[in-house]
Amino acid sequence: MIEFRNVSKQYSTDTYALHDVSFTVAKGELVFLAGPSGAGKSTLLKMIAAIERPSSGQVLINGTDISRIRPAAIPSLRRNLGLIFQQQRLLTDRSILANVMLPLLVAGASHKEAETRARAALEKVGLDERADAQPLSLSGGEQQRVSIARAIVNRPQLILADEPTANLDRASANRVLDALKAFNSVGVTCIISSHDEQMLDAAARVIHLNHGQLEGAA
Ligand code: ADP
Ligand code: ADP
Repeated sequence: MIEFRNVSKQYSTDTYALHDVSFTVAKGELVFLAGPSGAGKSTLLKMIAAIERPSSGQVLINGTDISRIRPAAIPSLRRNLGLIFQQQRLLTDRSILANVMLPLLVAGASHKEAETRARAALEKVGLDERADAQPLSLSGGEQQRVSIARAIVNRPQLILADEPTANLDRASANRVLDALKAFNSVGVTCIISSHDEQMLDAAARVIHLNHGQLEGAA
């Protein structure tokens, strides 16, 4: 589903954020992307979402080289992606239900259909009983689970989560990971980055990045 072929990224001429990175991720896989801060994890995820482009090499998604994608084709690529970035914020002027309904309304769903599906997505992350709450009344971990519900409500094939457990205590972090794994278990491919080695799932595949390079075989 995803293939990196000798991908390098330089934001400036003297340093590589990623250097000659090659790996594949199959449909339905759960992959952790590990490495210290500055290793290149965000850069790698942004390339899959066509937020950043490689300086050299190829990024193939379902066989399409997105390093050459036309700007007009980016929205349809992103429709198949659930993006959970750490800095993403919920809209604080409306309920969590309204936050999760928003992507569906933008995509043209009726209010009734959006509400039904948003409630189902909130149920999947264990927050259906908080649907009418305001985001700021929730804990950090709960807010992150709302972000997951918002990211998956359009049924993407692929979820990219950049440090979704940063700044959470262990119990909250585990609930966030469990929510992501629940979607993986129904076939959604998931790539989850973390700088915290303790968050890595012993059973899952781990890709280790350090100074922009893969460590060991990936
Ligand atoms: P991580 O997510 O593992 O912390 P990043 O992908 O954010 O790593 O960063 C990798 C390297 O690229 C770091 O040295 C960082 O400073 C640099 N970098 C990231 N984004 C930019 C940018 N927009 N402009 C310049 N340098 C950047
Ligand atoms: P519904 O069919 O009413 O949407 P489901 O229980 O099948 O209810 O799913 C609830 C929500 O979970 C969906 O609206 C969707 O957001 C998410 N979801 C379920 N299955 C998938 C899947 N395979 N891929 C992505 N998202 C999914």
